[in-house]
Amino acid sequence: MKKHNFSAGPSILPQEVLLKSSEAIMDYNGNGLSLIEISHRSKDFVDIMEKARALALELLGLEGKGYKALFLQGGASSQFLMVAMNLLEKRAGYLNTGAWSAKAIKEAQMLDDIYEVASSANANFNYIPKGFDIPSDYDYFHCTSNNTIFGTQIKDFPKTDIPMVCDMSSDIFSRVIDYSQFDIIYAGAQKNMGPAGTTLVVVKEDILGKVSRKIPSIMDYKKHIGAGSMFNTPPVFAVYTSMLTLDWLKSKGGVVGIEEENEKKARLMYSEIDLNPLFTGFAAKEDRSNMNATFNLTNENLKETFDSMLKEAGISAVNGHRSVGGYRASMYNALPLDSVKALVEVMSELESKA
Ligand SMILES: *Cc1c(COP(=O)(O)O)cnc(C)c1O
Repeated sequence: MKKHNFSAGPSILPQEVLLKSSEAIMDYNGNGLSLIEISHRSKDFVDIMEKARALALELLGLEGKGYKALFLQGGASSQFLMVAMNLLEKRAGYLNTGAWSAKAIKEAQMLDDIYEVASSANANFNYIPKGFDIPSDYDYFHCTSNNTIFGTQIKDFPKTDIPMVCDMSSDIFSRVIDYSQFDIIYAGAQKNMGPAGTTLVVVKEDILGKVSRKIPSIMDYKKHIGAGSMFNTPPVFAVYTSMLTLDWLKSKGGVVGIEEENEKKARLMYSEIDLNPLFTGFAAKEDRSNMNATFNLTNENLKETFDSMLKEAGISAVNGHRSVGGYRASMYNALPLDSVKALVEVMSELESKA
């Protein structure tokens, strides 16, 4: 039986995408060859790469606005360094909203001065700081749109004239925002777009070429853009599966269509957390993530019972991250509303038992 998959990452993909990508492993397009045993320079794969890049810009509403989409390797984690390599001349400002922001800061600090413009470390990152200043002489401002571990999400992005960089690994393509307010967006595929192995980077071309340092080729966005995202062998299977997911998203009405679904799921989830006296939410209400809902039992003695009920109902991977504890329900684009219904049912059943 297929489980209700609440995994935080790598995470659920649409069934039809899994089916199509598994077929391509055996025989791509009836060619008599597997997708993963053909040249990345073949027309078949170049077409896949170009379609994936175009779909990414189209779905974000960034076509014809001076942006390029790249599918790179090394995960979102390598972007922590790559962003700084390409943009950092003197100093940059970072918003620290959790473990991933902190890692981004740590990597960039190897190159130059990084200032935390604000941090929610004082409350174990259960909220998003607001009302801070971003000095206009910084090279760029960096933030994390959705904090996968803590279950918080930036709803209103700060206004600034300096380039804005955003790690959107766990909520890209999930909601309608003005994506053109950012100059670089990056996202590891394995949360809301595809399998692990590729990272989408969307770069506004005119912000590049302004630092004095020499940038190693593999870290240079300009080199990757010039090579059509084929500077070296791309992760062909991850790019293909991401392309299929983006195509699936387009057929669901794109970001507008999926946002509606995501809001339904989040409303259902959080109303159970708020109304059921056995649970409390972890994140501050106004900053709650529509992707990762974090919550705790009010009575830890019920843990064993609750866990076995979850297991019985086929609900998988709702255990919280070790730095927060409790539970985390990740409700990415591909998670059906029915899975949230199943989880909420178990939560209310626990209430009637207790
Ligand atoms: C998972 C995650 C990362 C790390 O991604 P990798 O691809 O494993 O390097 C970075 N940022 C956020 C917000 C994440 O959720």
